[in-house]
Amino acid sequence: MRGAALTIALLALIGAAAPVQAARTVLTTEPRTDLRTGPSAQHNRITVLPPGIQLWADDLVDGFYRVPLAPTLTAWVADDHVRPLDRSTPRPPIVTVRDISVQGIAPGSVATIRMSRPVAFRVRQQVSPPRLILDLFGVALARYGVRQLPSDRCVWSITADQVTDGWAQLSFDLTFAQQRGWSVSQRDGQFQLLVRRPYEGASLANKVIVLDPGHGGGDSGAVGPSGLREKDVNLRIAMQLAANLRERGATVRVLRESDRSVGPSGVGTRAELEARLSASEQPDADFFLSIHNNAVGSGNASSAYGTETYYWTPMSALPARLLQNALCARLNTRNRFISWRPFYVLRWGDVPRVLVECAYVSNPTEEQRLRSDAFVTDAAVALAEGLEEFFRRAAAY
Ligand SMILES: [Zn+2]
Repeated sequence: MRGAALTIALLALIGAAAPVQAARTVLTTEPRTDLRTGPSAQHNRITVLPPGIQLWADDLVDGFYRVPLAPTLTAWVADDHVRPLDRSTPRPPIVTVRDISVQGIAPGSVATIRMSRPVAFRVRQQVSPPRLILDLFGVALARYGVRQLPSDRCVWSITADQVTDGWAQLSFDLTFAQQRGWSVSQRDGQFQLLVRRPYEGASLANKVIVLDPGHGGGDSGAVGPSGLREKDVNLRIAMQLAANLRERGATVRVLRESDRSVGPSGVGTRAELEARLSASEQPDADFFLSIHNNAVGSGNASSAYGTETYYWTPMSALPARLLQNALCARLNTRNRFISWRPFYVLRWGDVPRVLVECAYVSNPTEEQRLRSDAFVTDAAVALAEGLEEFFRRAAAY
């Protein structure tokens, strides 16, 4: 007891002393830096930042810096996602924004915000009504006001609020329902949010589809009871789907067309997923589809079977439903569920992103079906039809 009490007392002393020791400016260095609600990888993400953003850290706990984004919003960042800057580096100052404008360019409409430095931000999407909400941290709006130029066709109206000190929020109501994605860039004293223009044409013709056959190379994915490897089935479905989509007039890019990884071989899972995500971020892409087949983690391999589909951004919900329905109808598989889940390759907002689990490799009956040419052909046809239906509906909005 006394030992424990002493330890706690010592920890309390260290804890009390830590903020002063840890307080410093840190710089994001990873391709995608997660800002979380607490000091562990199990805590949920508040936002994901690109490299090159300075954050003020006022504590360090269990390998996580505490970074207050605003007086009412505190985030945590893993110390291996950032580089601590020299202690003489001052705390990043509040950026005062005096000028915001929105104009139309070829890929869509772009909101330009003049800023003296890159800042932490968060973009959230709503679909009903169609809207993007941009949070800017470390930012003060000098005055309210936004200029919308006549070339802007995507943004119906904009409002701007100062939520608290150092937290500005811009809300963009859009002129069309089925969103196509957004992107952010910060350079040359400008923060830019691109709202991609709506889809044109009610079909797959001239659409750019990026396909991700799950796993590959040293990563087999799930392995069935008689040895069928998920990576092989995923690739067969993807290659057949690619042919189907091209017949329908689409441009298709497949992240791997053979049994290999997408990133350098031998890197860890996160690095491979990052390689896939970054390879799939193509400025002219219209849709991202990751193709997988499933396995039970534990429990009875015979009892788990059927089809699941995953999405993360709200704009991806409609195509997720359509692809799930198309798969179950054509394959006559059990419709298990669609699920909102932050899989690595789904978390980006550049295009609608969906991941399908066509059937269970771990289920003996479905494993035999997955071996057959008929099942692979049907899965590919179902996915092509589901995508065609999505673009038909997207144009109707
Ligand atoms: Zn998989």
